[in-house]
Amino acid sequence: MRPEVLFKLFSPITGLPGIGPRNAKLVEKLAGAKLIDLLWLLPRELIDRRYSPSITEAETGKVATLTVSVDGHVAPPNKRQPYRVRCFDGTGFITLVFFHARPDYLQKMLPVGETRVISGVVERYRDEIQMTHPDHIVPPAEAASIRRVEPVYPMTASLSPKTLSRAIAAAMEDLPVLPEWLDPAYLEQQRWPDWRTALLSAHAPEDAAALSLLTPARARLAYDELLANQLTLAVMRARQKRGNGRKLKGDGALRRSVLKSLPFALTDTQKLALKEIRDDMAADGAMLRLLQGDVGSGKTVVALFTLLNAIECGGQAAIMAPTEILARQHSATITALLEGSGVRTAILTGRDKGKGRQELLARLANGEIDILVGTHAIFQAGVEFQDLMVAVIDEQHRFGVHQRLSLTEKGRGVDVLVMTATPIPRTLTLTVYGDLDVSRLTEKPAGRLPVDTRTISLERLPDVIDGVARALGQGAKAYWVCPLVEESEVSDMAAAEARHRELSARFGDAVALVHGRMKSAEKDAAIERFATGSARILVATTVIEVGVDVPDATIIVIEHAERFGLAQLHQLRGRIGRGEKASRCLLLFGQPLGDTARSRLKILRETEDGFRIAEEDLRLRGAGEVLGTRQSGLPEFRLADLAAHAELLAVARDDARLILERDPSLKSPRGGALRTLLYLFERDAAILNLRSG
Ligand code: ADP
Ligand code: MG
Repeated sequence: MRPEVLFKLFSPITGLPGIGPRNAKLVEKLAGAKLIDLLWLLPRELIDRRYSPSITEAETGKVATLTVSVDGHVAPPNKRQPYRVRCFDGTGFITLVFFHARPDYLQKMLPVGETRVISGVVERYRDEIQMTHPDHIVPPAEAASIRRVEPVYPMTASLSPKTLSRAIAAAMEDLPVLPEWLDPAYLEQQRWPDWRTALLSAHAPEDAAALSLLTPARARLAYDELLANQLTLAVMRARQKRGNGRKLKGDGALRRSVLKSLPFALTDTQKLALKEIRDDMAADGAMLRLLQGDVGSGKTVVALFTLLNAIECGGQAAIMAPTEILARQHSATITALLEGSGVRTAILTGRDKGKGRQELLARLANGEIDILVGTHAIFQAGVEFQDLMVAVIDEQHRFGVHQRLSLTEKGRGVDVLVMTATPIPRTLTLTVYGDLDVSRLTEKPAGRLPVDTRTISLERLPDVIDGVARALGQGAKAYWVCPLVEESEVSDMAAAEARHRELSARFGDAVALVHGRMKSAEKDAAIERFATGSARILVATTVIEVGVDVPDATIIVIEHAERFGLAQLHQLRGRIGRGEKASRCLLLFGQPLGDTARSRLKILRETEDGFRIAEEDLRLRGAGEVLGTRQSGLPEFRLADLAAHAELLAVARDDARLILERDPSLKSPRGGALRTLLYLFERDAAILNLRSG
């Protein structure tokens, strides 16, 4: 249960001044629905209002705070003209300009003959000194209410900055004093303030330097967030590893027979990964390992042998994929490789309903299914295994810590192998997986030829189509990738449907189409036609980015390649070069081609190394964009910036490990404070998973 000291921070923003139902919605979108969400919104800029010259001294373009007397109001002759208020001081005149003004309101704010303190940007129009819509207008007695250095918050349209600032200021009143969760020695060494002081000071920058991510206040808040992240992952990992893990050591019979039937030998890194997995499974604790390998590096075989180890031990195994297409692909691959082995496989996706599903679940619970392949549907309540020993989670490009946990709940001390094709930098793996064991497949399977990658202007589309026609004549198969699903009047993007029609006009039935708005049965059917060869061109959107495996496809054409991200192009290109025949990737670009796009396409021509491409992507796009994408499932930090705070992340990892070693149930006084930290960052689940007692 959340400690009382945090109650106020978790109360709804609707209690704040100026936050009625309409503004609440806007603030919620911007920050969140609770006070604490608003407090995490730190200023990005500031407005310095300390400049207080006389009117004639005031520099054009600068923000100034002036003390003036009101001389007179000039209502406009028509509504298009602004309302003007003339003011003066001992040196000269300034005109305040208001568009769409409410005269009665302005007369109240600026009564003739009175003195007012105003603050805003000084402008000059013809020979007049002006200020359009001053940010502040107050009587001299209230001058102190104008903040001399005003923080500027990230904004959303139609929410006034004043409302937001006022709400944040109100949320900051009576900030609780929280118990210190940081190690006192570290705190002292860093010269960081306590949490409350840090938050107050982050919201009250005195000058531009105070906006730096590296000030003691900001660094402290960032560290808190990173520590909560690392501690959560460490708790989950400890939970996964402790106690009820089983020593699994199959006799190798199944694996040997499957190995014999493989048309290839395992690569050295596949062998190494399998040895590491074998050792993990044979050890006391449960396995929690990440298998990282580029597209086409051969992760599926590694996954299969991992599953077979459990089956040799008399248990069950599961493999989960992020999409239905991929689940079916895994199912088909695995079933084919296991032919004649006696291993019973089944597939469960969201599409399975009713009686068929009931029967499948019954067989699963009875132990009549050895390997269950599926989508997230296998996490659902009611899916019971007789004895689940190992789970492989193929995350490809999405990440889901939650799902990983709910699957392990379906058995006792389930061994978990997570597979990813995203060659993310070490920093990122840490935030997603914590301090996890990692195996990497770094070589391409033997016999693979490099993909010949070329960039071609879209103007040469007819030549490209002729080229594809010649290749088809020699038996090739080609992917044809378009950026958008439907034709849009505002955009000149080649739409998949239009391209499909056009290519069909030339190649007839040999062209299949797959895109994201099709039902999954239709998608499967299209890919199936392409896989079996009844279709020889597959026109597609990026839905084929993940997992589609048609080894004899040797051509991929990507239209408007300049509109795709580098990582995405790399994944798309990974669809080819999977068989023994030479493959070709044609990147068609539209004009004009910007510098960044040009560099991106150049890198693709130069290398197929996913790790190098990922690094270049980071360099070209900047950390924020690569790391911050919502749909990737990567954690989004609100206070920490992985580029600026990478070192803090490493410290937080070590800190978290040490904390749990010394105090696994967080019972010490510092442990208690750390629980507050976890609640503060809404890691309630981590607390539930702490070792009890
Ligand atoms: P990933 O899942 O890592 O993208 P896959 O497991 O789908 O890659 O493997 C890609 C292709 O390479 C598959 O057709 C697979 O049968 C083949 N393959 C896997 N390992 C080897 C190997 N050691 N030698 C040759 N081909 C291999
Ligand atoms: Mg084990």
